[in-house]
Amino acid sequence: MISNKELVDFLVGKGFLKSAKIIDTFTKTDRKKFVKKEYIENAYDDIPLPIAPGATISQPSTVAAMTEALDVESGMKVLEIGTGSGYQSALLAELVGGKGKVITIEINKEVYEFGKSNLKNYHIIEAILSDGSLGYEKEAPYDRIIVTAAASTLPEELIKQLKVSGIMIIPIGREMFKIIKISETEIRKEFLGYYAFVPLR
Ligand code: SAH
Repeated sequence: MISNKELVDFLVGKGFLKSAKIIDTFTKTDRKKFVKKEYIENAYDDIPLPIAPGATISQPSTVAAMTEALDVESGMKVLEIGTGSGYQSALLAELVGGKGKVITIEINKEVYEFGKSNLKNYHIIEAILSDGSLGYEKEAPYDRIIVTAAASTLPEELIKQLKVSGIMIIPIGREMFKIIKISETEIRKEFLGYYAFVPLR
């Protein structure tokens, strides 16, 4: 595919993108700005692209499916674990709007610097260099949490940092789940399908 518009049309055609607001957000957010120079020719292909060892910009259809499932509303506070290129963070920032906030955590310094430079014009995004496997207590609770690297188990600490009626999207191994926090003590877990991710460290 040769343009961002063509990529968006593909994602709509395949059913990964559905809601008007999210289609608009993907249209406004040019994936080319988030890939490494050497992969610019593949920016609009539905494939993940390398950033550093253990880090990729995720496959667009995966990003689309996760963003649809996360169901972000304007004004929300969202935590992302695994900043990578910053592409997912940029989409989230567009969806929460000026009154919202996006906190994104990256463990790899080189990747953090790359993501942060791609996000320099997004003022509501706070990018943090840290291990995010236990979330980020300081800004909790969150309306939404999205984990963009595969966990091995469901981290209790992340559920704690989610508001009641909040949603978390998280890959556990190759299985993607939507976790809805029903009350302080109950969650509902929905299986969303099989996806490939780099592992959460
Ligand atoms: N959301 C990214 C996808 C990044 S791939 C994008 O849109 O481009 C997953 C990222 O998670 C990698 O950059 C990896 O370094 C990071 N990561 C892995 N384990 C982590 C951890 N414990 N805390 C924070 N980031 C982590």
